[in-house]
Amino acid sequence: MQRLSDPGMTRKVISQYDFDFRKRFGQNFLVDEGVILRALEAARVSKEDVIIEIGPGIGTLTQYLAEAAYQVTAIEIDKKLIPILSETLAGCDNVEVIHADVLKVDLSAIAQKYAPEHSLKIVANLPYYITTPILMNLFRRNVPAQSITVMVQKEVADRMTAQPGSKDYGSLSVAVQYYSRPRIVEEVPPDSFIPHPKVTSSVVTMELYEELPVRAQNEELFNTVVRAAFGQRRKTLVNALSSNAEIPFGKEQIASCLDQLGFPPAIRGEKLSIGDFVSLSDCLSASG
Ligand code: SAM
Repeated sequence: MQRLSDPGMTRKVISQYDFDFRKRFGQNFLVDEGVILRALEAARVSKEDVIIEIGPGIGTLTQYLAEAAYQVTAIEIDKKLIPILSETLAGCDNVEVIHADVLKVDLSAIAQKYAPEHSLKIVANLPYYITTPILMNLFRRNVPAQSITVMVQKEVADRMTAQPGSKDYGSLSVAVQYYSRPRIVEEVPPDSFIPHPKVTSSVVTMELYEELPVRAQNEELFNTVVRAAFGQRRKTLVNALSSNAEIPFGKEQIASCLDQLGFPPAIRGEKLSIGDFVSLSDCLSASG
């Protein structure tokens, strides 16, 4: 099989099919075998695994996944890529390509087809314009994956892995770290893709918790509190929450919970750990 990670092969396929890159679909195809191999190693892809790949493009990463895994389901939104994929993946009989928007696919149903013999891992060079919706969808719908390994914009990777008190710490850090243990595998320069994106990228791997280390009693309220805390991050937490229309608690209730939890009254949201946010949300929920 001729590897599409070879830039010459990718250019050949693109010109053979007269394919026009679509910016709105975030199309930057990987042409760096080293990056692909290290991503697969970080994800510890083995013949036991079923993989969901989001956005296979012309099938570059898919070729390697097919070799390393038991089965690959690749979900691609761009209908112009479907005939290309059927040719570039012709030799891979363990790959199923689904033409769909990943946000509309029941990913748990795919996992269930192969459970319990095979565990699910998600591997993707994500379309950057919908990185956060895709990750939130995977987490909040409890897609039963062991791990998620993705290429994202470097700044997004920094936010996903940021710790309390740092400038990058925000609602994405809390969401990612509520559900998983994330780790940056490596930074990837623009020239590892065709066409070159304007930004540097990073590969991040997230090991999903089987049992969440902390769990909010009311997850909807927890999410609202986190969003409100970082929505106005320069304000004190009390002011950010009490001035937010989505928070159904007054200033006194919020101040009282902060006091009960031992936080100074002028604390800002960016200082709270995930456990702290859970305690605050549980306290507000109980104060009802
Ligand atoms: N995996 C390929 C690679 O590494 O060369 C392509 C990665 S490219 C960054 C992102 C891919 O996601 C594109 O093929 C794009 O068409 C596809 N895509 C964009 N939005 C999508 C969506 N909502 N659902 C499924 N695929 C999508």
